[in-house]
Amino acid sequence: MLLCPACRPLLAAALGLAARRRLPRHHGKRRAALSPAPVAARLRSAAGSGEAGGVLRHLLLKLRSTGPVTVAEYMREALTNPGQGYYTRRGGVGEDFVTSPEISQMFGELIGIWYVSEWMATGKPNAFQLVELGPGTGTLTGDILRVFNQLAALLNKCDVSIHLVEVSPKLSAIQAQMLTEGKVQSTPENKAAYMKGISKAGIPIYWYRDIQDVPQGYSFYLAHEFLDALPIHKFQRTEKGWCEVLVDIDPEVPDQLRFVLSPSRTPATENFIQPEETRDHVEVCPEAGVLIQRLACRIEKDGGAALIADYGHDGTKTDTFRGFRNHKLHDVLKAPGTADLTADVDFSYLRKMAEGRTATLGPIKQREFLKNMGIDLRLQVLLQNSRDSATHAQLLHSFDMLMNPKKMGDCFHFFALLPHHRLVHPTKKDNPQSKSPLPPVAGFGELSLK
Ligand code: SAH
Repeated sequence: MLLCPACRPLLAAALGLAARRRLPRHHGKRRAALSPAPVAARLRSAAGSGEAGGVLRHLLLKLRSTGPVTVAEYMREALTNPGQGYYTRRGGVGEDFVTSPEISQMFGELIGIWYVSEWMATGKPNAFQLVELGPGTGTLTGDILRVFNQLAALLNKCDVSIHLVEVSPKLSAIQAQMLTEGKVQSTPENKAAYMKGISKAGIPIYWYRDIQDVPQGYSFYLAHEFLDALPIHKFQRTEKGWCEVLVDIDPEVPDQLRFVLSPSRTPATENFIQPEETRDHVEVCPEAGVLIQRLACRIEKDGGAALIADYGHDGTKTDTFRGFRNHKLHDVLKAPGTADLTADVDFSYLRKMAEGRTATLGPIKQREFLKNMGIDLRLQVLLQNSRDSATHAQLLHSFDMLMNPKKMGDCFHFFALLPHHRLVHPTKKDNPQSKSPLPPVAGFGELSLK
């Protein structure tokens, strides 16, 4: 596919960006050893064995007093329990796992160009908020900000602010260091944001625990490898009908957990299984659904766009719940709180949850999106600007990681929410001969309106 015409001039202007920095320490780990594909999502290093106590102890008490819990409740405790959850407690995320923005600066730069291209296509509003959900180390926002800085002449009359939704105190401290060199202040309890700071280029940055705390207004939303970390419910079709998979204590082995099936239907089976469902095992992430509804409402009301990138499927896969620790698959029921738990994102469910409030584009494979955004050209410029062979090799290796269909190229997808008027000209509906075509949406190639 050809580079989208909308981003050609932007890419040309942004190409002057220098190389970001050396790649992270764990960059060289072989993803091939981590197949099947979803395993390639994150590369984990030592995940702190022997620290299981907290979450497991808490869960055992709960299970003994109230009986089995849903997989969603289990996942929430394991990942975001305020004191002991995997994300809450872990520091040094850059060392524990590597995601696309950590692999190459090209990833975040092209996403930065996508937002500027959308901002231009909607008439350059005089302000926008960039809202990132689950920013990890802050690397992705950092690369986007470098693009905004490089395009300062274009954005100079636009009031840009950054809003980060992050539950982990450890990670928000890392983000603050990365984006503001630690120049942040905590805000009073009654404020929506729990922390604020100023980027190196003078852009205000705010931190929140929940998307609902982020102010309304024309906004660009970004969720990269965020939705896969939200809790899922799991369901199994049985002879008695749909049952929910629950987590309970194994009566045979002390302090060990096991999966059980609910004896009958549960509130979740009633609410989340579609009558036309044909699969025998289904995973549903209601928190992702609620999030998409919120984003769609905001975009419908205030304008902007959402870009969601993650590994996932279009309503076809069944059992994708898995854990990662120390670069390897990890039993999801072992030592909760010490391993990453994740499930593929169901993009068909997200599309349904937008409920027609916005248009949706994608999911499109990561390698196609990045190619449409001009990654080949960006790579050439970085190669030309680098003199030593080690940097060349690193650049080619990171390009391969992002683009190779067997690595991250095919299993990661991009999905967007956009206001309807961004894709269908209001006058075109009444006058199909109208001569003023809307600029195409960068990255998605041929538009597939759904
Ligand atoms: N987007 C980053 C990091 C992905 S890891 C990257 O691509 O590198 C998931 C991120 O989401 C972490 O920052 C984690 O702390 C955060 N997170 C997980 N669950 C969350 C929740 N319920 N609310 C807000 N942040 C959450």
